[in-house]
Amino acid sequence: MAQADGSVRPALTGTADAGGLPLAGGPPLLSVSNIEVVYDRVVLVLRGVSLDVEQGGIVALLGANGAGKTTTLRAISNLLEAERGRVTKGRIEFRGEAVAGRSTADLVRLGCIQVMEGRHCFGHLTIEENLLTGAYTRRDGRAAIRGDLERMYACFPRLRARRSSLAGYTSGGEQQMCAIGRALMSRPQLILLDEPSMGLAPQVMEEIFEIIRQLNREQGVSFLLAEQNTALALRHASHGYVLENGRVVMDGAADALLANDDVRQFYLGMGDGGRQSFRDLKSYKRRKRWLA
Ligand code: ATP
Repeated sequence: MAQADGSVRPALTGTADAGGLPLAGGPPLLSVSNIEVVYDRVVLVLRGVSLDVEQGGIVALLGANGAGKTTTLRAISNLLEAERGRVTKGRIEFRGEAVAGRSTADLVRLGCIQVMEGRHCFGHLTIEENLLTGAYTRRDGRAAIRGDLERMYACFPRLRARRSSLAGYTSGGEQQMCAIGRALMSRPQLILLDEPSMGLAPQVMEEIFEIIRQLNREQGVSFLLAEQNTALALRHASHGYVLENGRVVMDGAADALLANDDVRQFYLGMGDGGRQSFRDLKSYKRRKRWLA
């Protein structure tokens, strides 16, 4: 794929998609083109980031701490201003419409909602009350909202069991499910999910990613997942983008990224030759320079 600076970054094609619905093939649901983001007027954090989420896709946005994943999601859902950040270059379109200048509530009505890192449930409300707050932008009446609540409980049986518990007293996994469920209550086409696995036990992470795939398959919801757990995200995504220092350094089909030597070595800690020698370290640095 051509970059803002004219270089070409490797795009990997895969054989079979690990996750996501068969893609529609039309214009992307979300298109981020060459954006730059600056915090506090001077701190340049994103440098020419471009990515697409196709209708029905599950796209993983990968990268280490501080790579710029959260900033990318904030730029898409117009939440940068509260952080004294600004998109200074490039364009973001959701369903063919420019995101710039729209309020976050307006974007939710249009079908794009973000689930922030750290889950952010209202601890003093019950699980069900939390879920209902997600329907506040809807104007289609109580019966439709009740119907969606039931559909949602069918995907999250744990939430049904805990519906009258205060969210603050539920487990981390239940709170993450509640945060995703609340987003679903707005009937989104695209959910931007920031670090859904953070702080959860491996079994609960798997459960959450399985639910993400189920929502994608059965309700047609597309996802952009910012995730540090590369292996987990790529096993459930259809496509992935790797961010480093605010740039996309690699993208491709999820299965191709999972099989890629650099991804295996840098992000999965699975170099082919087992334990790394100093000579390997030099080659790591050379390849790292190439990626940057
Ligand atoms: P993490 O997984 O740790 O959240 P990330 O990939 O999501 O990492 P960001 O949170 O987007 O990365 O941060 C990217 C860079 O922007 C980091 O260097 C961070 O210090 C900086 N940054 C983030 N928020 C702000 C802010 N409000 N003001 C100034 N700099 C910020």
